[in-house]
Amino acid sequence: MLPYFSSAFGNPSTLYSYGQEARKAVEEARSKIASLINAQSEEIVFTSGGTEADNFAIKGVAYANEHKGNHIITTPIEHHAVIEPCKFLEKRGFSVTYLPVDNQGLVDPQDIKNAITDKTILISIMHANNEVGTIEPISAIGKIAKERGIIFHTDAVQTVGHIPVDVDKLGVDLLSISAHKFYGPKGIGALYIRKGTKLAPFIHGGAQEKGQRAGTENTPGIIGFGKAVEIAMEEMTKEGTRLSHLRDKFIKGLLEQIEQIQVNGHPTKRLPNNVNVTIDSARADLVLLNLETEWIYASSGSACSSSNPEPSHVLLALGLSPEQARSSLRFTLGRETTESDIERVLEVLPRIIDKTAVMSELLKGMARRSRCC
Ligand code: PLP
Repeated sequence: MLPYFSSAFGNPSTLYSYGQEARKAVEEARSKIASLINAQSEEIVFTSGGTEADNFAIKGVAYANEHKGNHIITTPIEHHAVIEPCKFLEKRGFSVTYLPVDNQGLVDPQDIKNAITDKTILISIMHANNEVGTIEPISAIGKIAKERGIIFHTDAVQTVGHIPVDVDKLGVDLLSISAHKFYGPKGIGALYIRKGTKLAPFIHGGAQEKGQRAGTENTPGIIGFGKAVEIAMEEMTKEGTRLSHLRDKFIKGLLEQIEQIQVNGHPTKRLPNNVNVTIDSARADLVLLNLETEWIYASSGSACSSSNPEPSHVLLALGLSPEQARSSLRFTLGRETTESDIERVLEVLPRIIDKTAVMSELLKGMARRSRCC
C-alpha cells in the first residue's frame, strides 16, 4: 500500500501517466477480488466496507425496484448493517419479513419460499453469521430466488477470504465483502453486482465506479484489499483446515472442562474460526475483563460491556434468554492462533469462571430484580 501514499499518489481518474499507474493497480486489485469469488471485474464496485456494501445492496435494490414491489425478506440474525437499512426502509413504506431461524441459527429455505409474495423484490440472507458462525444454505435459497425472479443478496463479510465463495454456485446477485475481515485494511470493501441487476446508485457525484459509487477511489485501501485477497487465495484451504482442527479441539476441551456449558451455532455448518458458548455460571463482561488481564481477547454476545449490556439480537433469535445471552462468549481464531494458545485458554478460562462465579450470580440477581431488559 505504501507507494500509493507517496510515489504513486496520482488520482486514478486522471489521464496523465502518474494517475494511470494508480488506475492500473486499482484494476488489478479489482480483478483479483473478482477471481476470488468467481465474478467478472466489472461486477465489483468498491465501497468503504461491509456496512456500505450492505446498505448499497438493500437500498439500491429497494429504490430501483419500488415500481415492482415493496417487500423484502431477511432474518433477525443479520448484522446491523442489514437490519438497520431494512428498518429505515420500513419507515418509508417498504415491508420486511424477518424469518425465524432454528436454535442453531439456520434459516429454512422452505420458509423463504413460503414468505415470497408478488411484491417481493429482494431476499437478503447472510452467508455466515458473525456471532455464532453458522453457515446458511445460500445455494438452496439462490435456486428459489432465481426460480421466482427475485434479486438475492448475501452478506459474505464473514466468509470471503475464509472459505470458498463462488457467486455462481451460491446463485447470488449481490454479495458484500469487507477487506479487514481477512487481514486487509479497514475502511475498504466491495459489493459484487451481477451483470443486469438493477440497483440505484448509492453515492451521487462523479463518474467513478461507473457512476454507481461516486468519489475518488481509496487507492491504498484498494491495493491492500487486493493483496489480502492474493494471500487468502494462497492460504485459505490450508488455513481453513488448520483452524477447523483448532476450533474443534477448543470446543472439545471446553465441553470437558466446564460445567453447564453449551455451544451456540451449528455443530458442523460453521465458520472454521468461530467458537461461541454459553456458560451458565458466568457473566460474559466479567469473564472478558479477567481474560484481558491474561492477554486473552475475546468478545461477548452483547453489544457493549456496560454493567447491564444489551443481549445479542442473534442469540435471542436462536432462542436464548437475555440472561443466557449475557453469559455467552465468542472466541475468534485467526492466522496467529496456535495450538498452545488454545491450550492456554483452556487452562485459564475455567479458573476465571470459578473466580468470577459469585460476582456473576450477584450481577445476574440484580439484573433480574431490576427487570430492565
Ligand atoms: N456484515 C457482517 C456479517 C459483519 O460481521 C460486519 C462487521 O463486523 C459487517 C457486515 C460490517 O463490515 P464493516 O466493518 O466493513 O463495515
